[in-house]
Amino acid sequence: MSEPRMRKLFQVSERVWIVPPQWKYVEPTIGFVLTDEGIVVVDSGNSPDHARRALTALRHVTDLPIRYVINTHRHWDHTFGNQVFGAPVIAHAFTQRKMLANMRDDWAPKQIINWVSGWVLKMVPTLRLEQFEGLRLVLPQITFTGKLELGLGGVHLRLLYAGGGHTQDSIIVHLLSEKILFLSDALYPNPEGKITKIAGLLEKISRLGAEKFVPGHEMPYDREKFALLKEYYQQLVGTATKLRSRKTLPQEIVRAKLESRFASLNGLDEQRHRELLERAWREWTPRRADRST
Ligand SMILES: [Zn+2]
Repeated sequence: MSEPRMRKLFQVSERVWIVPPQWKYVEPTIGFVLTDEGIVVVDSGNSPDHARRALTALRHVTDLPIRYVINTHRHWDHTFGNQVFGAPVIAHAFTQRKMLANMRDDWAPKQIINWVSGWVLKMVPTLRLEQFEGLRLVLPQITFTGKLELGLGGVHLRLLYAGGGHTQDSIIVHLLSEKILFLSDALYPNPEGKITKIAGLLEKISRLGAEKFVPGHEMPYDREKFALLKEYYQQLVGTATKLRSRKTLPQEIVRAKLESRFASLNGLDEQRHRELLERAWREWTPRRADRST
């Protein structure tokens, strides 16, 4: 591509490099774990073009072969680069099942480019159709439920099911020796997911002992920021729980203020805060909430 989008890789630790995410193009983080016997890719990017640029950047760091690609969930921006890496794809069984279903429909070989131009390019007008040229979806061949231990070239990766805050099929990837946790999108609330599940997942993750966190659409962060995120969700769910007996949307939610210390969290402002609070409240009281609107 002609634009200066060939971003250099960012080194997270001795063995971990990432292509930093760019929200403007909905390019999520692409992670590379360098083992002595080759590379494990964590998420393959939003298009063949994105994946190719990532691979070119990686080749400035190492010539080792790509051994595996991990898809952290099925979303297009994390899976549409699969074909570029030429390695077996690992994912949760739900991811494979859902992608397979999509391939019989919108993502069928003859349909997929129409889907991209009719849906992706409308949603993300900064992307161009050429970036998807030759797109051929590669399904995960290796699947698991619960967890999968992957040992390769002196590295131990633990793939853990994270479930339904973002999507039902979300997983996280723990590189134990370097205390790095690839979160991908697991902690981003999505209409398909539940706020209360994110709060639960934050609890679970905090017990894993990771020190660096690599999210899908923002730069890696440390334990301190993770703790702040966890505290935010604890408060959110705490407030929603207290208000759950109300029959109509409580004024405490309509007029809620965001504590300034939480304003540094990704994408969080007063309006978003109220939306999340309302969603958490509706999760507690779905029947009543529906009747009141
Ligand atoms: Zn996603």
